[in-house]
Amino acid sequence: MDDSHVRDVDPAVADALSGEVQRQQDTLAMIASENHASRAVLEAQGSALTNKYAEGYPGERYYAGCEYADAVEELAIERAKELWGAAHVNVQPHSGSQANMGVYLAVLDPGDKILSLDLTHGGHLSHGHPANFAGQTYEVEQYEVDAETGYVDYDGLEDLAESFDPDIIVSGYSAYPREVEWERVQEIAEAADAYHLADIAHITGLVAAGVHSSPVGVADFVTGSTHKTIRAGRGGIIMCEEEHADAIDKAVFPGAQGGPLMHNIAGKAVGFGEALSEEFEAYAEQTVENAKALADRLEEHGLSLVSGGTDNHLVLADLRPSHPDTTGKDVEAALETAGIVMNANTVPGETRSAFDPSGIRLGTPAITTRGFDEEATREVADLIVRVIDDYDDESVVEDVAERVDELTDEYTLYE
Ligand SMILES: *Cc1c(COP(=O)(O)O)cnc(C)c1O
Repeated sequence: MDDSHVRDVDPAVADALSGEVQRQQDTLAMIASENHASRAVLEAQGSALTNKYAEGYPGERYYAGCEYADAVEELAIERAKELWGAAHVNVQPHSGSQANMGVYLAVLDPGDKILSLDLTHGGHLSHGHPANFAGQTYEVEQYEVDAETGYVDYDGLEDLAESFDPDIIVSGYSAYPREVEWERVQEIAEAADAYHLADIAHITGLVAAGVHSSPVGVADFVTGSTHKTIRAGRGGIIMCEEEHADAIDKAVFPGAQGGPLMHNIAGKAVGFGEALSEEFEAYAEQTVENAKALADRLEEHGLSLVSGGTDNHLVLADLRPSHPDTTGKDVEAALETAGIVMNANTVPGETRSAFDPSGIRLGTPAITTRGFDEEATREVADLIVRVIDDYDDESVVEDVAERVDELTDEYTLYE
Protein backbone atom coordinates (compact mmCIF):
# COMPACT_ATOMS: atom_id res chain seq x y z
CA MET A 1 0.00 0.00 0.00
CA ASP A 2 1.21 3.51 -0.80
CA ASP A 3 1.51 5.10 2.64
CA SER A 4 2.44 8.60 1.43
CA HIS A 5 0.72 11.83 2.42
CA VAL A 6 -1.93 13.35 0.16
CA ARG A 7 0.56 16.15 -0.62
CA ASP A 8 2.83 13.58 -2.31
CA VAL A 9 0.16 11.38 -3.84
CA ASP A 10 -2.19 14.02 -5.16
CA PRO A 11 -0.93 17.61 -5.26
CA ALA A 12 -4.11 18.86 -6.97
CA VAL A 13 -6.34 17.72 -4.13
CA ALA A 14 -3.72 18.71 -1.54
CA ASP A 15 -3.68 22.24 -2.97
CA ALA A 16 -7.45 22.47 -2.65
CA LEU A 17 -7.31 21.18 0.94
CA SER A 18 -4.65 23.62 2.06
CA GLY A 19 -6.33 26.36 0.04
CA GLU A 20 -9.51 25.78 2.00
CA VAL A 21 -7.71 26.03 5.36
CA GLN A 22 -6.15 29.29 4.17
CA ARG A 23 -9.53 30.57 2.91
CA GLN A 24 -11.07 29.90 6.32
CA GLN A 25 -8.14 31.65 8.01
CA ASP A 26 -8.32 34.68 5.70
CA THR A 27 -12.09 35.29 5.70
CA LEU A 28 -14.81 35.81 8.29
CA ALA A 29 -17.35 32.98 8.08
CA MET A 30 -20.71 34.56 8.81
CA ILE A 31 -22.88 31.92 7.19
CA ALA A 32 -25.15 31.18 10.16
CA SER A 33 -25.00 27.40 9.67
CA GLU A 34 -21.19 27.25 9.60
CA ASN A 35 -18.59 26.92 12.32
CA HIS A 36 -14.98 25.85 12.78
CA ALA A 37 -14.52 22.42 14.36
CA SER A 38 -11.48 21.94 16.59
CA ARG A 39 -8.32 20.21 15.41
CA ALA A 40 -9.30 17.24 17.61
CA VAL A 41 -12.66 16.90 15.81
CA LEU A 42 -10.93 17.19 12.42
CA GLU A 43 -8.46 14.47 13.40
CA ALA A 44 -11.22 12.13 14.51
CA GLN A 45 -13.15 12.76 11.28
CA GLY A 46 -10.02 12.16 9.24
CA SER A 47 -9.26 8.88 11.00
CA ALA A 48 -8.97 5.26 9.84
CA LEU A 49 -12.50 4.60 11.08
CA THR A 50 -13.52 5.63 7.56
CA ASN A 51 -12.42 2.11 6.55
CA LYS A 52 -14.74 0.29 8.92
CA TYR A 53 -18.13 -1.19 8.11
CA ALA A 54 -20.31 -1.19 11.21
CA GLU A 55 -23.87 -1.71 9.96
CA GLY A 56 -26.12 -2.11 12.98
CA TYR A 57 -25.72 -0.59 16.43
CA PRO A 58 -23.14 -1.00 19.24
CA GLY A 59 -23.13 -4.64 20.40
CA GLU A 60 -25.38 -5.71 17.50
CA ARG A 61 -23.32 -5.30 14.33
CA TYR A 62 -23.56 -7.22 11.09
CA TYR A 63 -19.77 -7.24 10.78
CA ALA A 64 -16.83 -8.46 12.86
CA GLY A 65 -14.10 -6.21 14.21
CA CYS A 66 -16.35 -3.50 15.59
CA GLU A 67 -14.90 -3.03 19.09
CA TYR A 68 -13.50 0.44 18.37
CA ALA A 69 -16.51 1.44 16.30
CA ASP A 70 -18.66 0.43 19.27
CA ALA A 71 -16.44 2.42 21.63
CA VAL A 72 -16.75 5.71 19.71
CA GLU A 73 -20.47 5.31 19.02
CA GLU A 74 -21.18 4.56 22.69
CA LEU A 75 -19.16 7.61 23.73
CA ALA A 76 -21.04 9.80 21.24
CA ILE A 77 -24.40 8.51 22.52
CA GLU A 78 -23.53 8.87 26.22
CA ARG A 79 -22.23 12.40 25.75
CA ALA A 80 -25.24 13.42 23.66
CA LYS A 81 -27.56 12.11 26.40
CA GLU A 82 -25.69 14.19 28.94
CA LEU A 83 -25.66 17.30 26.73
CA TRP A 84 -29.32 17.35 25.76
CA GLY A 85 -30.91 15.13 28.42
CA ALA A 86 -32.45 12.80 25.86
CA ALA A 87 -33.68 9.29 26.75
CA HIS A 88 -32.69 7.79 23.39
CA VAL A 89 -30.12 9.05 20.89
CA ASN A 90 -29.23 7.88 17.40
CA VAL A 91 -25.93 9.40 16.19
CA GLN A 92 -25.84 7.65 12.81
CA PRO A 93 -27.69 10.09 10.50
CA HIS A 94 -25.20 11.30 7.87
CA SER A 95 -26.63 14.82 8.11
CA GLY A 96 -29.50 16.83 9.51
CA SER A 97 -31.61 16.09 6.44
CA GLN A 98 -31.07 12.34 6.96
CA ALA A 99 -32.09 12.78 10.59
CA ASN A 100 -35.39 14.28 9.47
CA MET A 101 -35.80 11.50 6.91
CA GLY A 102 -35.31 9.00 9.73
CA VAL A 103 -38.17 10.54 11.73
CA TYR A 104 -40.51 10.66 8.74
CA LEU A 105 -39.76 7.03 7.87
CA ALA A 106 -40.30 6.01 11.50
CA VAL A 107 -43.80 7.44 11.89
CA LEU A 108 -45.25 8.39 8.48
CA ASP A 109 -46.54 6.44 5.51
CA PRO A 110 -46.28 7.87 1.99
CA GLY A 111 -49.12 10.34 1.51
CA ASP A 112 -49.29 11.26 5.21
CA LYS A 113 -49.40 14.94 6.11
CA ILE A 114 -46.60 17.28 7.23
CA LEU A 115 -47.31 20.78 8.53
CA SER A 116 -44.13 22.91 8.47
CA LEU A 117 -42.86 26.46 8.11
CA ASP A 118 -42.58 27.88 4.59
CA LEU A 119 -38.99 27.86 3.26
CA THR A 120 -39.05 31.59 2.43
CA HIS A 121 -40.19 32.24 6.01
CA GLY A 122 -37.21 30.39 7.50
CA GLY A 123 -38.04 26.69 7.07
CA HIS A 124 -35.79 24.00 5.61
CA LEU A 125 -35.91 21.98 2.37
CA SER A 126 -36.19 18.75 4.34
CA HIS A 127 -39.40 19.98 5.97
CA GLY A 128 -41.33 19.21 2.79
CA HIS A 129 -40.23 21.48 -0.05
CA PRO A 130 -41.48 20.16 -3.45
CA ALA A 131 -37.85 19.74 -4.62
CA ASN A 132 -37.07 17.48 -1.62
CA PHE A 133 -38.05 13.83 -1.12
CA ALA A 134 -40.27 14.88 1.79
CA GLY A 135 -42.32 17.15 -0.42
CA GLN A 136 -42.56 14.42 -3.04
CA THR A 137 -43.50 11.64 -0.62
CA TYR A 138 -45.86 13.36 1.79
CA GLU A 139 -48.66 15.88 1.58
CA VAL A 140 -47.37 19.20 2.85
CA GLU A 141 -49.06 22.33 4.18
CA GLN A 142 -47.05 25.29 5.40
CA TYR A 143 -47.45 27.85 8.14
CA GLU A 144 -45.79 31.24 8.12
CA VAL A 145 -44.30 33.95 10.27
CA ASP A 146 -46.49 36.94 11.05
CA ALA A 147 -45.95 39.58 8.33
CA GLU A 148 -45.89 42.40 10.88
CA THR A 149 -43.80 40.96 13.69
CA GLY A 150 -41.61 38.36 11.94
CA TYR A 151 -42.40 35.91 14.76
CA VAL A 152 -43.93 32.50 14.03
CA ASP A 153 -47.68 32.94 13.63
CA TYR A 154 -48.68 30.37 16.26
CA ASP A 155 -52.37 31.24 15.95
CA GLY A 156 -52.18 30.67 12.20
CA LEU A 157 -50.38 27.39 12.88
CA GLU A 158 -53.17 26.36 15.25
CA ASP A 159 -55.85 27.14 12.64
CA LEU A 160 -53.97 25.18 9.98
CA ALA A 161 -53.50 22.25 12.35
CA GLU A 162 -57.28 22.11 12.76
CA SER A 163 -58.15 22.40 9.08
CA PHE A 164 -55.29 20.37 7.57
CA ASP A 165 -55.25 17.62 10.24
CA PRO A 166 -51.50 16.86 9.94
CA ASP A 167 -49.78 13.65 11.04
CA ILE A 168 -46.67 15.58 12.08
CA ILE A 169 -45.90 19.23 12.80
CA VAL A 170 -42.33 20.41 12.28
CA SER A 171 -40.85 23.23 14.34
CA GLY A 172 -37.26 24.49 14.39
CA TYR A 173 -35.88 26.52 11.50
CA SER A 174 -32.99 27.65 9.28
CA ALA A 175 -33.40 31.40 9.15
CA TYR A 176 -35.39 32.31 12.24
CA PRO A 177 -33.78 34.73 14.69
CA ARG A 178 -36.19 34.22 17.59
CA GLU A 179 -36.66 31.70 20.38
CA VAL A 180 -39.07 28.93 19.38
CA GLU A 181 -42.04 28.28 21.68
CA TRP A 182 -41.76 24.48 21.80
CA GLU A 183 -44.57 24.05 24.37
CA ARG A 184 -46.97 26.07 22.25
CA VAL A 185 -46.26 23.92 19.18
CA GLN A 186 -46.55 20.79 21.30
CA GLU A 187 -50.01 21.81 22.56
CA ILE A 188 -51.11 22.46 18.99
CA ALA A 189 -49.73 19.09 17.87
CA GLU A 190 -51.45 17.24 20.72
CA ALA A 191 -54.77 18.92 19.96
CA ALA A 192 -54.40 17.81 16.33
CA ASP A 193 -53.33 14.30 17.38
CA ALA A 194 -50.10 14.84 15.43
CA TYR A 195 -46.47 14.10 16.25
CA HIS A 196 -44.17 17.03 16.88
CA LEU A 197 -40.69 17.07 15.35
CA ALA A 198 -38.47 19.85 16.71
CA ASP A 199 -35.54 20.36 14.33
CA ILE A 200 -32.80 22.17 16.27
CA ALA A 201 -30.19 21.86 13.46
CA HIS A 202 -29.02 25.47 13.85
CA ILE A 203 -29.28 25.78 17.61
CA THR A 204 -27.98 22.40 18.87
CA GLY A 205 -25.11 24.14 20.65
CA LEU A 206 -27.30 26.88 22.13
CA VAL A 207 -29.76 24.31 23.46
CA ALA A 208 -26.96 22.12 24.86
CA ALA A 209 -25.50 25.11 26.70
CA GLY A 210 -28.88 26.21 28.01
CA VAL A 211 -28.91 29.57 26.21
CA HIS A 212 -31.98 28.55 24.18
CA SER A 213 -34.90 26.62 25.70
CA SER A 214 -34.88 22.90 24.93
CA PRO A 215 -37.54 20.88 23.10
CA VAL A 216 -36.12 17.63 24.52
CA GLY A 217 -38.80 16.12 26.72
CA VAL A 218 -41.40 18.36 25.06
CA ALA A 219 -41.51 17.35 21.39
CA ASP A 220 -41.84 13.68 20.34
CA PHE A 221 -38.70 13.88 18.22
CA VAL A 222 -35.74 16.23 18.21
CA THR A 223 -33.33 16.27 15.26
CA GLY A 224 -30.17 18.23 14.66
CA SER A 225 -27.04 18.81 12.62
CA THR A 226 -23.77 18.32 14.45
CA HIS A 227 -21.62 20.80 12.48
CA LYS A 228 -23.46 24.03 13.23
CA THR A 229 -23.46 25.70 16.68
CA ILE A 230 -22.42 22.46 18.42
CA ARG A 231 -19.11 22.34 16.44
CA ALA A 232 -18.86 18.53 16.42
CA GLY A 233 -18.12 17.98 12.74
CA ARG A 234 -20.45 17.21 9.86
CA GLY A 235 -23.38 14.93 10.61
CA GLY A 236 -26.84 14.52 12.09
CA ILE A 237 -28.52 13.25 15.26
CA ILE A 238 -31.98 12.14 16.40
CA MET A 239 -33.31 12.19 19.98
CA CYS A 240 -36.56 10.72 21.29
CA GLU A 241 -38.25 8.95 24.20
CA GLU A 242 -37.69 5.19 24.66
CA GLU A 243 -41.12 4.36 23.19
CA HIS A 244 -39.91 5.50 19.74
CA ALA A 245 -36.33 4.19 20.03
CA ASP A 246 -36.83 1.02 17.98
CA ALA A 247 -38.76 2.72 15.22
CA ILE A 248 -36.12 5.46 14.91
CA ASP A 249 -33.17 3.05 14.92
CA LYS A 250 -34.80 0.86 12.24
CA ALA A 251 -35.70 3.89 10.13
CA VAL A 252 -32.09 5.16 10.11
CA PHE A 253 -30.62 1.69 9.50
CA PRO A 254 -31.67 -0.20 7.45
CA GLY A 255 -34.49 2.17 6.49
CA ALA A 256 -32.55 5.08 5.07
CA GLN A 257 -28.84 4.34 5.36
CA GLY A 258 -26.28 1.57 5.09
CA GLY A 259 -23.04 1.59 7.06
CA PRO A 260 -22.66 4.50 9.48
CA LEU A 261 -19.87 7.04 8.86
CA MET A 262 -17.86 5.88 11.87
CA HIS A 263 -15.16 8.54 11.38
CA ASN A 264 -17.84 11.23 11.57
CA ILE A 265 -19.34 9.57 14.62
CA ALA A 266 -15.87 9.75 16.21
CA GLY A 267 -15.90 13.48 15.41
CA LYS A 268 -19.31 13.79 17.06
CA ALA A 269 -17.99 12.01 20.18
CA VAL A 270 -15.04 14.42 20.44
CA GLY A 271 -17.15 17.51 19.72
CA PHE A 272 -19.83 16.49 22.23
CA GLY A 273 -17.09 15.92 24.81
CA GLU A 274 -15.79 19.44 24.18
CA ALA A 275 -19.33 20.82 24.46
CA LEU A 276 -19.72 19.37 27.97
CA SER A 277 -17.12 21.85 29.23
CA GLU A 278 -17.73 25.22 30.88
CA GLU A 279 -15.77 26.85 28.06
CA PHE A 280 -18.43 25.72 25.65
CA GLU A 281 -21.17 27.25 27.76
CA ALA A 282 -19.28 30.54 27.68
CA TYR A 283 -18.84 30.15 23.93
CA ALA A 284 -22.58 29.65 23.36
CA GLU A 285 -23.43 32.66 25.53
CA GLN A 286 -20.91 34.81 23.69
CA THR A 287 -22.31 33.67 20.33
CA VAL A 288 -25.72 35.04 21.31
CA GLU A 289 -24.26 38.23 22.84
CA ASN A 290 -22.37 38.80 19.61
CA ALA A 291 -25.49 38.28 17.50
CA LYS A 292 -27.34 40.82 19.64
CA ALA A 293 -24.46 43.30 19.30
CA LEU A 294 -24.48 42.73 15.53
CA ALA A 295 -28.25 43.25 15.35
CA ASP A 296 -28.16 46.45 17.44
CA ARG A 297 -25.39 47.96 15.38
CA LEU A 298 -27.00 47.11 12.04
CA GLU A 299 -30.21 48.75 13.26
CA GLU A 300 -28.29 51.84 14.37
CA HIS A 301 -27.06 52.04 10.79
CA GLY A 302 -30.68 52.01 9.58
CA LEU A 303 -31.00 48.40 8.42
CA SER A 304 -34.35 46.69 8.87
CA LEU A 305 -34.15 43.36 10.69
CA VAL A 306 -36.78 40.67 10.40
CA SER A 307 -38.50 40.50 13.83
CA GLY A 308 -36.49 43.58 14.88
CA GLY A 309 -33.55 41.72 16.39
CA THR A 310 -32.42 38.31 17.57
CA ASP A 311 -32.59 35.86 20.48
CA ASN A 312 -30.10 33.42 19.00
CA HIS A 313 -26.99 33.26 16.80
CA LEU A 314 -28.35 34.80 13.62
CA VAL A 315 -29.67 38.02 12.16
CA LEU A 316 -31.86 38.33 9.09
CA ALA A 317 -31.82 41.74 7.41
CA ASP A 318 -34.42 42.84 4.86
CA LEU A 319 -32.67 45.25 2.49
CA ARG A 320 -35.84 46.58 0.88
CA PRO A 321 -36.73 49.40 3.31
CA SER A 322 -33.21 50.86 3.57
CA HIS A 323 -31.67 49.85 0.21
CA PRO A 324 -34.55 49.27 -2.23
CA ASP A 325 -32.26 48.94 -5.27
CA THR A 326 -29.77 46.55 -3.66
CA THR A 327 -30.33 42.79 -3.69
CA GLY A 328 -29.03 40.10 -1.38
CA LYS A 329 -26.77 38.74 -4.13
CA ASP A 330 -25.22 42.20 -4.75
CA VAL A 331 -24.27 42.32 -1.09
CA GLU A 332 -23.17 38.67 -0.91
CA ALA A 333 -20.76 39.12 -3.84
CA ALA A 334 -19.28 42.41 -2.62
CA LEU A 335 -18.84 41.10 0.93
CA GLU A 336 -17.15 37.97 -0.36
CA THR A 337 -14.67 40.18 -2.22
CA ALA A 338 -14.11 42.01 1.06
CA GLY A 339 -13.50 38.70 2.88
CA ILE A 340 -16.80 38.45 4.74
CA VAL A 341 -18.63 35.30 3.67
CA MET A 342 -22.39 35.27 4.27
CA ASN A 343 -25.45 34.38 2.26
CA ALA A 344 -28.28 36.15 0.50
CA ASN A 345 -31.55 34.91 1.97
CA THR A 346 -35.24 35.13 1.28
CA VAL A 347 -37.25 37.18 3.75
CA PRO A 348 -40.90 36.86 4.78
CA GLY A 349 -43.05 38.46 2.08
CA GLU A 350 -40.26 37.93 -0.46
CA THR A 351 -40.82 39.97 -3.65
CA ARG A 352 -37.71 38.86 -5.56
CA SER A 353 -36.56 35.28 -6.19
CA ALA A 354 -34.85 32.56 -4.16
CA PHE A 355 -31.77 33.06 -6.39
CA ASP A 356 -31.55 36.81 -5.86
CA PRO A 357 -33.57 37.50 -2.73
CA SER A 358 -34.12 40.69 -0.75
CA GLY A 359 -32.35 39.71 2.44
CA ILE A 360 -29.07 38.69 3.96
CA ARG A 361 -28.52 36.19 6.77
CA LEU A 362 -25.59 36.68 9.14
CA GLY A 363 -24.48 34.37 11.93
CA THR A 364 -21.96 34.68 14.74
CA PRO A 365 -21.06 31.03 15.59
CA ALA A 366 -17.85 30.91 13.53
CA ILE A 367 -16.45 34.36 14.40
CA THR A 368 -17.19 33.65 18.07
CA THR A 369 -15.16 30.44 17.77
CA ARG A 370 -12.31 32.66 16.50
CA GLY A 371 -12.57 34.74 19.67
CA PHE A 372 -14.63 37.75 18.58
CA ASP A 373 -16.40 39.61 21.41
CA GLU A 374 -19.18 42.22 21.15
CA GLU A 375 -16.81 45.08 20.42
CA ALA A 376 -15.09 43.22 17.59
CA THR A 377 -18.49 42.13 16.27
CA ARG A 378 -19.74 45.72 16.25
CA GLU A 379 -16.80 46.63 14.06
CA VAL A 380 -17.72 43.79 11.69
CA ALA A 381 -21.25 45.26 11.54
CA ASP A 382 -19.75 48.64 10.60
CA LEU A 383 -17.70 46.99 7.84
CA ILE A 384 -20.73 45.11 6.53
CA VAL A 385 -22.78 48.30 6.32
CA ARG A 386 -20.00 50.15 4.52
CA VAL A 387 -20.09 47.45 1.85
CA ILE A 388 -23.90 47.39 1.67
CA ASP A 389 -23.98 51.18 1.21
CA ASP A 390 -21.35 51.15 -1.56
CA TYR A 391 -21.29 47.59 -2.86
CA ASP A 392 -20.35 48.73 -6.37
CA ASP A 393 -17.51 51.02 -5.25
CA GLU A 394 -14.28 49.04 -5.58
CA SER A 395 -12.25 51.34 -3.37
CA VAL A 396 -14.70 50.94 -0.48
CA VAL A 397 -14.70 47.14 -0.85
CA GLU A 398 -10.89 47.22 -1.05
CA ASP A 399 -10.70 49.31 2.12
CA VAL A 400 -12.93 46.91 4.02
CA ALA A 401 -10.91 43.95 2.71
CA GLU A 402 -7.76 45.46 4.21
CA ARG A 403 -9.37 45.76 7.63
CA VAL A 404 -10.72 42.18 7.36
CA ASP A 405 -7.15 41.05 6.64
CA GLU A 406 -5.97 42.67 9.85
CA LEU A 407 -8.81 41.11 11.84
CA THR A 408 -8.26 37.60 10.47
CA ASP A 409 -4.54 37.93 11.22
CA GLU A 410 -5.35 38.92 14.79
CA TYR A 411 -7.92 36.14 15.36
CA THR A 412 -6.18 33.02 14.11
CA LEU A 413 -7.84 29.66 13.55
CA TYR A 414 -5.65 26.58 13.05
CA GLU A 415 -1.89 26.91 13.58
C1 LIG B 1 -29.11 22.81 8.33
C2 LIG B 1 -30.47 22.31 8.59
C3 LIG B 1 -30.79 20.96 8.43
C4 LIG B 1 -29.86 19.90 7.96
O1 LIG B 1 -28.99 20.18 7.03
P1 LIG B 1 -27.86 19.16 6.53
O2 LIG B 1 -27.14 20.03 5.58
O3 LIG B 1 -28.55 18.02 5.89
O4 LIG B 1 -27.08 18.74 7.73
C5 LIG B 1 -32.05 20.53 8.79
N1 LIG B 1 -32.94 21.38 9.28
C6 LIG B 1 -32.68 22.68 9.46
C7 LIG B 1 -33.73 23.55 10.05
C8 LIG B 1 -31.44 23.19 9.09
O5 LIG B 1 -31.18 24.48 9.26
